[in-house]
Amino acid sequence: MRKQIAAANWKMNSTYQQGEKLMDEILGARIKLTPDQLTIFAVPFPYLLMGRSEVAEEKNYHVAAQNCHHKKSGAFTGEVSAEMLHSIGVAYCVVGHSERREYFGETNAQVAEKIDQCLQNFITPLFCCGEALDVREAGEQNNHVALQLRESLFHLTAEQMKGVIIAYEPIWAIGTGKTATTAQAQEMHAHLRSILSEQFGQSTADQVSILYGGSVKANNARELFGCPDVDGGLVGGASLVGAEFVQIIGALKK
Ligand code: PEP
Repeated sequence: MRKQIAAANWKMNSTYQQGEKLMDEILGARIKLTPDQLTIFAVPFPYLLMGRSEVAEEKNYHVAAQNCHHKKSGAFTGEVSAEMLHSIGVAYCVVGHSERREYFGETNAQVAEKIDQCLQNFITPLFCCGEALDVREAGEQNNHVALQLRESLFHLTAEQMKGVIIAYEPIWAIGTGKTATTAQAQEMHAHLRSILSEQFGQSTADQVSILYGGSVKANNARELFGCPDVDGGLVGGASLVGAEFVQIIGALKK
């Protein structure tokens, strides 16, 4: 079975102390993950070491950075490189989140470079893609995500592609309380997998976890994660509420 993943994206929320308490609460629920399940906490940079020590004794629980720079190193004041993340033992990094694309002007080409930086530094990138509302209303969502994959992932080898996690996040569903229907999610995830299959072969496509993101909550996670091509979720708002996120982890396929 492909890895089933519950990934929390805290964004720019919570103080260090609140974050520590939240992780204590979630880990304190003692949800035992199967070997095919993972939980990943994408926390703000200053909390990565705290997060690492929180999950140190927990099997299949990890921390992720929410971003990294697309260059190896240099005069980029305020930025953080994949190499720096690796040097403190971070093994996952969110790349190309729609908020980074929208507010920080990240392009598909830069996202491709970030993917390379991650892979060169033994970090699994959690690559985000997804369409805005106007794109969906124009019926262009499949072409839109196909272009995102083509421009950011198609330079990889099949072997490298197996080391990438994809998160499909329709922008109109992020933080809006509006969720894609299970039919919409399954249709898009199957489309993404077929693109991967065409480019990298079926066996690679079958091994890549594709998460759904966009207002995943405790009350819709099981239904969404139950879709054959949905391998868990990338969760924003609901990941900041311990009891909610615990239920979301519990909704992963077994
Ligand atoms: C996200 O931050 O990637 C996200 C999906 O947020 P939310 O769950 O709040 O919609």
